[in-house]
This record gives sequence, C-alpha cells and structure tokens, in this order.
Amino acid sequence: MDLTRAMGWLPVSQYINSPRAKPAALHIWHTSDYIAALQNAEASGNVSDAVKQRHSIGTHSNPVFPEIFRRPATAAGASLLSGELLRDGGVVYSPAGGTHHGMPDRANGFCYLNDPVLAILSLRRQGVHRIAYVDIDAHHPDGVEFAFADDPDVLMLSVHEEGRWPRTGALTDRGVGQVFNLPVPRQFNDTEMQYIMDQLILPKVIAFKPDAIVLQCGADMVEEDPLSRLSLSNNAHWAVVAALRPLSDRYLVLGGGGYNPWSVGRLWTGVWAILNGNEIPERLSAEAENVLRSLRWYGNRRGKNPPDHWFTTLRDPRNPGPIRDEIRTRVNAHQS
Ligand SMILES: [Zn+2]
Repeated sequence: MDLTRAMGWLPVSQYINSPRAKPAALHIWHTSDYIAALQNAEASGNVSDAVKQRHSIGTHSNPVFPEIFRRPATAAGASLLSGELLRDGGVVYSPAGGTHHGMPDRANGFCYLNDPVLAILSLRRQGVHRIAYVDIDAHHPDGVEFAFADDPDVLMLSVHEEGRWPRTGALTDRGVGQVFNLPVPRQFNDTEMQYIMDQLILPKVIAFKPDAIVLQCGADMVEEDPLSRLSLSNNAHWAVVAALRPLSDRYLVLGGGGYNPWSVGRLWTGVWAILNGNEIPERLSAEAENVLRSLRWYGNRRGKNPPDHWFTTLRDPRNPGPIRDEIRTRVNAHQS
C-alpha cells in the first residue's frame, strides 16, 4: 500500500480501513472454541499443550505472535465487509486477505482464519449465490476446498505446484463436479499459465456464469519466491486479474502467500494498477523507488544483493517457454 500510494494510485476516496471482525461474525465458519483459543493466545502470549494439540496454535508453522487474533481478524473483517460492498456489484481488492489454508477449528499453514471462505459466505448472506473461486497461489487452497467441495454453486479452480505442501489438490478431486485442480511442475512458465488460463480457467468461469468471482492472487508462483520452484513473471498474474474482471459484475481480489518482499510489493501494486486501468511505467519515480529500497529481507541470500530492477520497476521481464506435455495432458483431463 505504501508503494501504491507512492505511485499516486491510492486516493483516500478509494481506500477503506478494514474493521476487525467480531468473534460472533467469525462463527459463521470457525468454531467458538477455536476463536476463543486465538483470543486467549493473544492475551497471554502462549498456549497450553492441550490447545496446541487441538487447534494447531503454537506450532512451527502456526506460531503464537503478538497480533495472533487481531491481524487475521482484520483481514477477515475485510472479507466479510467485501460481501456487503459487492452486493450490488463492483470490485474490491484486499491484499491482506487470501489465507486459504485456515480450517474451522485449527490454524494451518500460517493461516489462522480462512478469509476467502468468510468472503464467500458473506456474499451468500447478501443474496449472491453462484461464486467462482480461482486460486493462483503456489499452494493448494485446502481450507477453501474443505468448505465448498460439496457445494455445486461454488466453482473451485486452483493452479498450484505439484508435490508441495499441503499435498492436497489432486487432479482427480472433483468435488460434486465443480472442483478443478491443476497441479503444475517446477519451472512453470508464463506461456504455460496463459495456456491454462485460456483452455481451463476462462472457459470454466464463463460456462459457470458466476454472480461473483473471488480471486486468490498469491505472489508465491513467481520466479524469485523462495518457497516455490515455479517461474512465472508477474505479467502472468496480472493477465489473470485482467481476464477475470469482465466475467462477473462482482469481483473480489485477495492476496495470499508470497515470501520475497520485493516481488510481493511489485506484483500486488501492479494488481491495483490493472484493476484501475493505470499504466505501469517502465521506470518508477524516485518516491516509489524509495519505498522498494527501504525494504529489508533477512535470512535469505536473495535479500543480500537484490538486482536493480527490484527497485526501479514493477513489471518483471516476461518468462515465456514451452508448454510441456504434462500441462496439456492435465488440462485435457478437465475438458472431458
Ligand atoms: Zn502459497
């Protein structure tokens, strides 16, 4: 958001502070015991072994931290509010959302609440019925699939790295015929993503005629991300953001994963530009460059000597490549 403001793209009239969700509002999907456990962990700064066992809080992947309730409850508040804001149509962008691994009664994969699920339920509450959920994070949205695998009115499309945690999201999961998972191999490139978009994502969304689209736009499929082994440029994400826009009257774009602060900031600032029709300049202004130069990334070799274009541009060089046979075969499996 600092970078977006430095670009001159975020007037106060377009920005809303997210309200923190109240526990009662979270009970539409999360259990009251679990919400109370998160609040207690925030108040006390630790959890008992029993709570750790039962709710997966205080583990390596779901550590206790000072804002363990407030932070996720604020992103969840944005997703709940989005359902109301989109009732009569529009576009909402909530980059702090996209915590797609959260489960009803436990934390999972550094997701304490599942704000995409809450967004979909909030849309439903406003009378918005048919919802297409598209997820282009490197990880499979196991929490969202758990919530809606049996719901014929939630189309579920996910592209994610094969063999990567949480190791769910098989090509053969079909839900009640509306679940389409596409695990992709290492070195996944821009041309392959374009192919999947044209052959799978867009046709399925168009045929579904959604009343709303929710896009989880995680930034961890890009080449420079330290967790995944995929190789997209941010152009590939932006193409999906742009292509989905005209396919429904209501569009919620969420963030998600992303573990390189420069690629996250550049990608998600570009998402806002795409949604607003702003032209992305070749070279950033000094003010925008300063935001990127002030970022720090400790504990990773890529943070030591960042290449200059991480400071001076938003757009990555494109990464085209061959469309591998396994990609074609898997897309075909969903077309029959
Ligand atoms: Zn991820």
